[in-house]
Amino acid sequence: MKKYVYLFGKEFSEGNRDMRNLLGGKGCNLAEMSTIGVPVPPGFTITTDVCTYFYQNNQTYPRELERQVHEGLRRVEDILDKKFGDTKNPLLLSVRSGARVSMPGMMDTILNLGLNDETVMALTKVTNNPRFAWDSYRRFIQMYSNVVMGMDGEILEHILEEKKKSLHIRYDYELSEIVLQELVHEFKKKVQAKIGQAFPTDPKEQLWNAIGAVFKSWDIPRARTYRKLNNIPEDWGTAVNVQSMVFGNLGETSATGVAFTRDPSTGENLFYGEYLINAQGEDVVAGIRTPHPINKARKKSGDALSLEETMPKLYKELEGIYNKLEKHYREMQDLEFTIEMGKLWLLQTRTGKRTARAAVRIAIDMEREGLISKEEALLRVDPYQLDQLLHPMLDPKAKYTALATGLPASPGAVTGKVVFTADEAESLVHDGEKVILVRIETSPEDIHGMHAAEGILTSRGGMTSHAAVVARGMGKCCIVGCGVLEIDYTKEQFRVGETVIRKGDFITLDGGRGIVVIGKVPTVKPKLDEYFQTLMSWADKIRTMKVRTNADTPHDAKVARDFGAEGIGLCRTEHMFFDEARIQAVREMIFADNSGARREALDKILPMQKGDFLGILKEMQDLPVTIRLLDPPLHEFLPREDMEIEDFSKKSGITVAQVKTKLSHLTEFNPMLGHRGCRLGVTYPEIYDVQVQAIMEAACELTKAGTHVIPEIMIPLVGMYQELEILRASTIRIADDVCKKYKVKVPYTVGTMIELPRAVVTADEIAEYADFFSFGTNDLTQTTYGFSRDDAGKFLPAYVDKKILPEDPFVSMDLKGVGELVRLGVMKGRGRKKNLKIGICGEHGGDPKTIFFLQKLGLDYVSCSPYRVPIARLSAAQAVLQKQ
Ligand code: ADP
Ligand code: MG
Ligand code: MG
Repeated sequence: MKKYVYLFGKEFSEGNRDMRNLLGGKGCNLAEMSTIGVPVPPGFTITTDVCTYFYQNNQTYPRELERQVHEGLRRVEDILDKKFGDTKNPLLLSVRSGARVSMPGMMDTILNLGLNDETVMALTKVTNNPRFAWDSYRRFIQMYSNVVMGMDGEILEHILEEKKKSLHIRYDYELSEIVLQELVHEFKKKVQAKIGQAFPTDPKEQLWNAIGAVFKSWDIPRARTYRKLNNIPEDWGTAVNVQSMVFGNLGETSATGVAFTRDPSTGENLFYGEYLINAQGEDVVAGIRTPHPINKARKKSGDALSLEETMPKLYKELEGIYNKLEKHYREMQDLEFTIEMGKLWLLQTRTGKRTARAAVRIAIDMEREGLISKEEALLRVDPYQLDQLLHPMLDPKAKYTALATGLPASPGAVTGKVVFTADEAESLVHDGEKVILVRIETSPEDIHGMHAAEGILTSRGGMTSHAAVVARGMGKCCIVGCGVLEIDYTKEQFRVGETVIRKGDFITLDGGRGIVVIGKVPTVKPKLDEYFQTLMSWADKIRTMKVRTNADTPHDAKVARDFGAEGIGLCRTEHMFFDEARIQAVREMIFADNSGARREALDKILPMQKGDFLGILKEMQDLPVTIRLLDPPLHEFLPREDMEIEDFSKKSGITVAQVKTKLSHLTEFNPMLGHRGCRLGVTYPEIYDVQVQAIMEAACELTKAGTHVIPEIMIPLVGMYQELEILRASTIRIADDVCKKYKVKVPYTVGTMIELPRAVVTADEIAEYADFFSFGTNDLTQTTYGFSRDDAGKFLPAYVDKKILPEDPFVSMDLKGVGELVRLGVMKGRGRKKNLKIGICGEHGGDPKTIFFLQKLGLDYVSCSPYRVPIARLSAAQAVLQKQ
């Protein structure tokens, strides 16, 4: 018979941490914690298999489940010497969801289950605390009616708020027993009225309905959204944890809190967390009351007493548990705990989410502490997440005054227009705006808006509130608990003292420091700390692929070199043509109708191009620089607007009519597949000749001056070896001429881009004429799919939505199609020329998944944008480690 129910608790756990797939993350860790001697309230986990069964069988359960659940319940009753539904000593339960990976706040937990008009009386007697008993009942009705019965949570919340208002009460815990009794009564009446169904009194019925609700909550829209954003498969399902309750709201010796074993924002090895006295778990997470730091070291002036001060012994015990768990899991943990009348219980542990900065520091620290190896440390940091570290911060030179300060929940500096709802955030972003989502607090319903926004600002909640946790996970700038903000949703504005900020006004957030500023503030890229440099140096020792950068200016080249780039993989020369001072000469060159006139115009460009190359080659001395000859269709350089046309006509002496005629001649139906790339070199040889001359003159001058330069001249868009044969010959002729003239030797090479399917298929022939290949995977993706990159935005999202494509193939390489072509090209090229140097330029060069793949193909290097260089360095190291 199949086992669907696994017990957990001191000395009788049936699961362990390796059973994540079956028991979910929460369930398997509850079992594991109990086994290693951490106090966990006993309970049992219903497996994810049941969830799968549930959805495959029309929302029904396997036959044996009922018996197994009741058996599990009986065991828990025995241990605690309480009985579920008992009118003397009732057992109360929590029903908690738990998927394989944590989905913060996605699935609803029900607390205090088992209460009804009789058991509440029993609870009153047992605890001798009627206020507590009725408050628990009140909370239970709120949660249950919302999660299980599907009633809008706002309705009862509203009754509660009104009640508090009428009594001039600010916090729930100030409600008296009598008022709570009234509330319970009113709540039940309201439920009956709204749902047309009485609030269930039978605890067994409550339990089964709650279990069903958890399974159903796997499929609610916000859970689906979260899974989609985080690539969590739909068929994993969730487990259900049924656990005996412990109470943090049993008075002043009770408390509840959450903690991280290290600082999730900076990574500092400092126990860190927040707690509330006399509260139940949801109070901390939902930001209803702003919690206090658990340790003294974290207190700021004005903060209330820390747990370390109010309950020093329990604090010590908690610290002991944190040490034990970290050693056991060898990972930073995120804990949930509750103290019931002086007794500490752990309710959850999991790998803590952290910012990129913290991830790097924790990995390095743990290696130094001897907890993990260097290889593990390298694998601990998600290369995609590193991007965060390279995020901008407020320019230290900028002058601004902070409007308000909140808790620095997630770093980065962003500017955007204020919006107050998630939907609005999404729609404005859709229209191309940048927005900051401002909320009193966020809830899982806001996920889509948080995703769309540049940053998130809340007036309530702590460092572990929903907003903070989710934003950190998204790598999004976030400030929480900014208490001075008076947010008014109906007026669509917020106030700080006398200052009013309205919807649509610009504000700037500094998530690293928790500062809010009115208007726009300039930002700069951050400096990288010692931990980061250490991680990179470890990565560099392991990786075998080189990492180059795509850079067109000496400035970009320098940025990339500082990030560790080992050369330029793609220097686009056309960007140099767009310069205002040069565009006139470029246009004259295009308008020239014979070779002589073309040459004349080009001679004006030559010294300028040479200047560019001098700058870049010098910046990249001792490292290879791949320079691509002119690639785009010529019409891209032409004047378009009437003003521009007139201006050009005046400067060049060509009539407006003539200009317009020429323009219409140059118009192409499909410029991407038109007169561009090496086709320009073939038809207008002067263009490439002049470019080669400029490159080589620059290289020769630098060489003469003692600078070691390595230019690699790259011919784009070759589809037939004959194209390359011709252009290589003229390149070498000119290059050698220049060298002779300067009387120096420059170690230049001539190669090509592989970006057309025909080039791939005939790569063996092409290799004859190439010293190197560079896969231009942007164009190769376009030409393989027949998708125009500039037009794909219209249909790609639908393709991803309908799962025709797993993701945008321009971002992460399509390994099956484009990847196979790269493999073929490498095979054919190296088949003909064993030591052919092969790299990749194009956006994919900085994409971790693509890099893992390229490692297997044996590429010599990847090239990516300057800010992605560190990501590529780490990915290349991980690629080696994963291969082993
Ligand atoms: P989430 O996955 O959203 O964190 P949890 O299942 O962890 O949901 O429950 C949310 C909160 O409810 C917990 O942090 C804890 O404080 C409280 N809670 C859950 N189970 C119990 C329990 N058995 N006793 C007391 N509090 C509980
Ligand atoms: Mg939890
Ligand atoms: Mg291209």
